[in-house]
Amino acid sequence: MKAAIISDIHSNLEALQAVIKDIKKRRIKRILCLGDLVGYGANPNECVAICLSEAKIIVAGNHDWAAVKKTDVSVFNPVAAEAIQWTQKRLTKGNSGKLQRLKLTDSIDDILLVHASPGKPEQWEYLFSLDEAKRQFKFFKTQVCFVGHTHIPSAVFQDANGYTDFVNDNLFPLIEGRRYIINAGSIGQPRDLDPRASYAIYDGNSRAVEIVRLDYNIPLAQQKIIDVGLPEVLADRLLAGR
Ligand code: ZN
Repeated sequence: MKAAIISDIHSNLEALQAVIKDIKKRRIKRILCLGDLVGYGANPNECVAICLSEAKIIVAGNHDWAAVKKTDVSVFNPVAAEAIQWTQKRLTKGNSGKLQRLKLTDSIDDILLVHASPGKPEQWEYLFSLDEAKRQFKFFKTQVCFVGHTHIPSAVFQDANGYTDFVNDNLFPLIEGRRYIINAGSIGQPRDLDPRASYAIYDGNSRAVEIVRLDYNIPLAQQKIIDVGLPEVLADRLLAGR
């Protein structure tokens, strides 16, 4: 199986369209989505519609659940909470219902898909450090677990002896005897100081994963955020990649 793994779109239509176009250009037929379709950006309904029609699997992100009041926004920072309240008012009934029904985890081939962490998916923990990732390997059985949530692409492996480390390449082989937690990064709001959209390609045939970065029309996504009256800081951070 070959699949594109997309995550953290956050209502950024320009970034999502660029990524879908790139995936199709590469003739990859299967798209798997790790959630956070909405929140922050100006096109929630359009992004939900594209993900629903293009992705074979979609798991829930904390912003998706917050947008349908399944997760409390009181833990969100004020700007994120404002964007969620804005999103709640604009989501169509149909799209709200679809977000409502997203489940927390799913699996296909030898891959687990989860937005935040395999250990406690509903608690939306962030896996930033090696130690945080290391503790998660006992919570899944597949060779690979794809996550999103931090908006920072990364990959961590663990070998049969429990030795754990980061993989430091954008294109790397899946080695037999090693297991992996791979963060696909964010399509709509990257936070690793690289403003380009990020997604991952899983190639189950050649046993390799690639993290892809892609330019998109950032000024247009920024202008839409300002035009609809969302906080300006949400436009600024797209260009800064943080
Ligand atoms: Zn997110």
